[in-house]
Amino acid sequence: MLNLVLFGPPGAGKGTQAEFLIDTYQLMHLSTGDLLRGEIAAATPLGMEARAFMDKGELVPDTVVIGMIRSKLKTHPDARGFIFDGFPRTVEQARALDQLLEENKTPISAMLSLEVEHQELVNRLMGRGVVSGRADDQDPTIIENRIDVYGRKTAPLIGYYQAQGKHIGIDGMGSISEIAGRLKETVDRLLQA
Ligand code: AMP
Repeated sequence: MLNLVLFGPPGAGKGTQAEFLIDTYQLMHLSTGDLLRGEIAAATPLGMEARAFMDKGELVPDTVVIGMIRSKLKTHPDARGFIFDGFPRTVEQARALDQLLEENKTPISAMLSLEVEHQELVNRLMGRGVVSGRADDQDPTIIENRIDVYGRKTAPLIGYYQAQGKHIGIDGMGSISEIAGRLKETVDRLLQA
C-alpha cells in the first residue's frame, strides 16, 4: 500500500498534483479542504463551524479534521493507498494520523513536500481566486495569514517526518507538467524500493 502525504504551503499545487498522482497510481484522494467545503455546501453544523475559521485563513480545530479523516479511512478499507492533501497540518494531526494508520497496519510511505517561493505562492493563489471564486484565495490579507499559519503550525511537520526518515523535498517551481514529472520519478523510486 502506498500512503502519501502531499505537503506544502497554500498555493504550492497540492490539489493539482494530487489529481495527477491519483490518475497515475489509482490512489484514493483525501483532501480535508475539499471535505470541509463539501460540508459548507451542504450547510451541515460541522460546515458552519468550520467556515468561521476558513474565512479568516485560520485552521479548523484538530478534533474536527481528525474525525473527518477517521471516518473516511473506515469507509474505504479496500483502497490501494491514500493521498493526504492538506492534512496533516499540525503535529497533533500527524500523530493522530500515525495512530489511525497503525490500527490499519498501513503506515505513511513518504511525505512529498513541494517547495515554492513566497511570491509565487501569492501569485498562484490570487490567480486561482479569480477562476474558482474561493473567498480565501481573493483577499491578500487572508492569503498572507494562511501562509503565516502554515509557517508557524504546519511547517514543523517537515521535522516530524524527517525524524521518521520519510520527508522528501520536491522542487515545486516551474510548470505543472515539470512538477508532475519530478513527483512521478520520486514515487516510481519509492515503488521500486
Ligand atoms: P485548503 O483547501 O487545503 O487550502 O484548505 C482551506 C482551508 O480549510 C484552510 O485554510 C483551513 O481553514 C481549512 N483546513 C483544510 N485542511 C485543514 C486541516 N488539515 N486542519 C485545519 N484546517 C484545515
